[in-house]
Amino acid sequence: MPPVSNNLREILSQLPAGVKLVAVSKFQPLESVREAYNAGQRRFGESRADELAAKAIAMPGDTVWHFIGHLQTNKVRRVVASAGVIESIDSERVLRAVSAEAVRAGRVIDIFLQAHVAAEDTKTGFLPSELPAAAELAAELPGVRVVGLMGMASNTDDEQRITADFAELAALSRRLQQIIPSATELSMGMSGDWPLAVAQGATIVRIGSAIFGSRN
Ligand SMILES: *Cc1c(COP(=O)(O)O)cnc(C)c1O
Repeated sequence: MPPVSNNLREILSQLPAGVKLVAVSKFQPLESVREAYNAGQRRFGESRADELAAKAIAMPGDTVWHFIGHLQTNKVRRVVASAGVIESIDSERVLRAVSAEAVRAGRVIDIFLQAHVAAEDTKTGFLPSELPAAAELAAELPGVRVVGLMGMASNTDDEQRITADFAELAALSRRLQQIIPSATELSMGMSGDWPLAVAQGATIVRIGSAIFGSRN
């Protein structure tokens, strides 16, 4: 695989203007994160609290960390301390815990509500029917600012199915904006499917292995 900086440049040249890139650095060594940073990348995605905390202290302060993994309530303090954005708010329990911790830390943290539309029931997130109530709760909580919706498509080669999942996420994003008008970001698309996500209106893509190579 070509160097990280080449992979980044290649992807950025294909992304439409205005679509933001989160470089998913989970399980990748710090030197790879540094290489991407030196090539100009500032947003990175991590899925584990401890790995996020270790990388965050090692990187310059203008690095923006998106937490994208399933968040356990006992890790909320760690993640709120290190993350600029939590994309993976997948239950009312974790939503309340993140808000309470942010208030305690004297900040308001940007969050995404994660929606579950994929075929696999191993994936987490609010079901479409649960999303409005979660949005109404989030709008009332003082420690969080909902900036958008995050989701994943089914893990399949069937491009029609993937496109249908992204279209459903886009529809849910519009539903979310009826409740919270400023929640305009739509985070969807990974290494294998991001062009399909962009075609359905993604404003943020989360790309790991296509930038950094396969994970250890
Ligand atoms: C790992 C991960 C990604 C990136 O996956 P790649 O296939 O390596 O691009 C994106 N989003 C989430 C939520 C992830 O956990």
